[in-house]
Amino acid sequence: MKKILVTGGAGFIGSAVIRYILAETKCEVINVDKLTYAGNLQSLPNVDIDNRYTFAQADICDALAITELLEFHQPDAVMHLAAESHVDRSIDGPAEFIQTNIIGTYNLLELTKKYWLSLTGSKKQGFRFHHISTDEVYGDLGDSGLLFTEKTSYDPSSPYSASKASSDHLVRAWHRTYGFPCIITNCSNNYGPYHFPEKLIPLVILNALEGKSLPVYGDGSQIRDWLFVEDHARALFTVVTEGKIGETYNIGGHNEKQNIDVVETICTILDEEAPISANPNFDFNNSFNPPLSSYSQLICFVKDRPGHDLRYAIDASKIEKELNWLPKYTFDTGIRKTVLWYLNNKKWCQDVQDGSYQRQRLGH
Ligand code: NAD
Repeated sequence: MKKILVTGGAGFIGSAVIRYILAETKCEVINVDKLTYAGNLQSLPNVDIDNRYTFAQADICDALAITELLEFHQPDAVMHLAAESHVDRSIDGPAEFIQTNIIGTYNLLELTKKYWLSLTGSKKQGFRFHHISTDEVYGDLGDSGLLFTEKTSYDPSSPYSASKASSDHLVRAWHRTYGFPCIITNCSNNYGPYHFPEKLIPLVILNALEGKSLPVYGDGSQIRDWLFVEDHARALFTVVTEGKIGETYNIGGHNEKQNIDVVETICTILDEEAPISANPNFDFNNSFNPPLSSYSQLICFVKDRPGHDLRYAIDASKIEKELNWLPKYTFDTGIRKTVLWYLNNKKWCQDVQDGSYQRQRLGH
């Protein structure tokens, strides 16, 4: 595989995929991204000096732009990560989610199928369309004690997960109906560097450092299976190069944690690495009485998100056995690396927040 077209490459996971490909492989990358509020080219430092990297600002719903990009670059694979990805935003305004995640995926499938049909010989045989999806399509495990496998039925709860489920169905239909060479991956919650600060982990780190409250939904008992984004990027490259056409692979880090434990772990690391007493950005005007000694004292519980799933957890044994992929990070090593990254990259955090988003929780 020589040339990979990545959609959504300026986002959190897409940028990790591009950084991985450029650092660890010989492939060329075409990054196709609309640059919504969630897309930021600063998440791809130093890529412009690499002649294997090209960026095109385009919407996956724009048929002409996508057709031209496919014809001009002649990729060997498409890795499709472009999406609206935040559950709270999908509750407040589902339209963008339907447009990008469903219509956009349909558009990309149709145009890429047309491009694939124009190929011949080994270029056509080797072509892959890799759709990146989420474990949220499977719905809520509740207290069943089960894990999501590739055979778990779809049962999405939010407009976001329903739109991703729809796009997964389209991709499978394009494979079954047209023989289009697709692979799907469904992964658990990612965390790591370059994560937009509306998501739980970066929100907590940045709020804590400024002495702002740390909002936790409900009683914080929701369980997510956390996957370090660099492990995910490596898994995705493994799947697009070695995965079997028509298959689905679940990707997870074996790190089930309650949200409240995640928040408390971050506070403990911050207490060690950036103690409140030595933190110049901590807002002492909040007049805590007595003065705070630990970031965990900023935790506050807020009204739960409607339709909030209690537990997600992935059985990743298929990708482990068939493609020999294993996560390298435990939650402890990954979360420490993440917190340190945010402490050392304050400029990125300031630059990605353009004033329209100020770390408020977006849901009802
Ligand atoms: P993100 O929101 O950080 O990035 C999405 C990127 O897509 C942005 O760069 C944005 O500009 C771009 N984009 C949005 N609409 C577009 C359009 N119409 N045309 C072209 N580009 C567009 O998302 P992420 O967290 O990096 O997630 C990437 C993919 O992985 C998504 O499909 C998401 O559903 C899936 N996923 C994410 C997680 C997670 O924990 N973040 C977990 C499982 C699956």
